Amino acid sequence: MQKDTAIFDLIRQEKERQMHGLELIASENFVSEQVMQAMGSELTNKYAEGLPGKRYYGGCEIVDQAEQLAIDRAKELFNAAWVNVQPHSGAQANAAVMLGVINPGDKILGFDLSHGGHLTHGSPVNFSGKLYQPLFYGVEQESGLIDWNKVYDIAVKEKPKLIICGASAYSRDWNYERLREAADAVGALLMADISHPAGLIARGLLNDPFEYCHIVTTTTHKTLRGPRGGMIMMPQDFENPWGLKTPKGDLRMMSSILDAAVFPGTQGGPLEHVIASKAVSFYEALSEEYLQYIIQVQKNAKALAKALTERGYQIISGGTDNHLMLIDLRSKGLSGKLAENTLIKADITINKNMVPFDDKSPFVTSGMRIGSAAVTTRGLKENDMERIIALIDEVLTNYDNDAKISAVKQEINAWMSNVPLFNF
Ligand SMILES: *Cc1c(COP(=O)(O)O)cnc(C)c1O
Repeated sequence: MQKDTAIFDLIRQEKERQMHGLELIASENFVSEQVMQAMGSELTNKYAEGLPGKRYYGGCEIVDQAEQLAIDRAKELFNAAWVNVQPHSGAQANAAVMLGVINPGDKILGFDLSHGGHLTHGSPVNFSGKLYQPLFYGVEQESGLIDWNKVYDIAVKEKPKLIICGASAYSRDWNYERLREAADAVGALLMADISHPAGLIARGLLNDPFEYCHIVTTTTHKTLRGPRGGMIMMPQDFENPWGLKTPKGDLRMMSSILDAAVFPGTQGGPLEHVIASKAVSFYEALSEEYLQYIIQVQKNAKALAKALTERGYQIISGGTDNHLMLIDLRSKGLSGKLAENTLIKADITINKNMVPFDDKSPFVTSGMRIGSAAVTTRGLKENDMERIIALIDEVLTNYDNDAKISAVKQEINAWMSNVPLFNF
């Protein structure tokens, strides 16, 4: 077979782009060589519908062991009682949970997308908003923080069947305890989608949703630094709140509901190469090196927030507890679109983002979101964060000066060409 030069040339170009640029998109990261190798392995050739030991295909003895390792390591990492590592993505994990535990037309209560929530938490353009009846809570305009008592009040008034917590652009920690009180008050299930801060939660740097939530979903490719994918977990003290014939603490009923919701409910064959790669990333995430990494991610985010504040940028909620922050650019007279389009000219990648109570469209937006997960994988520290913000500020204050932007790009390219993508 002739080599596909077109695609491999594009892969080479993309690698170059990643090497030479400054990656501040909060949902992105760089995986290790071994995580990549597992993804690009012969396990992609195998069909394995079903679960380890219970497959619909022969020849699964080896992928069974790989998938079981992924499950066991995820359990250890999060102190979970039950895990399904098959969801192809975070969105697929959420779809499976909703298919499994609620009925079409039921009310769901999630964090407003325009305040930092996720599409799959009830947006009208997503299955979650089309099949279910979405209700939302948001942040307070003054503080940029969620008022937990208000969420409780909405739940009591509206009686949703499922309460969803977790976000794509909320820089503060979550009050899972209060949300569980709301869920208990109305007999709802509480699901935490920890796609973004999963790595910080796994290593104890944020409140633990496993103490209070019935179900936890996550992606594996953001702070967790694994392959692109999703998973669903249940905590140790899970109680079946649905009045099914399951004694308290017995996981079999709900776990089989969720397993069936993944396959055959929403997916066919699992991606065993990606599952093996997930197992590798969980092995890494359990290591001392990863602990040091994720501590540095949090420190770097605080350093980014501090440097931004010192330069007069306005951070929603005034700072960050996790790896990301949302910046309201209106006080600088800029839009998110202008910031994104200008920074990319200097090889700085961020994303434009709606801010709470935004007066601009989702295509323009008043804000930008940045995160520290990827630059920390490259080995950058707090003083580098100050340098990054100085460069961002130089570009944004000179957005119409191509010579100055080009000088910043050269500085970044020179800097990054001395920094490996994966530095551990
Ligand atoms: C990223 C994200 C997802 C979706 O993940 P995909 O793998 O892109 O489908 C779901 N929920 C939240 C909160 C996210 O941030």
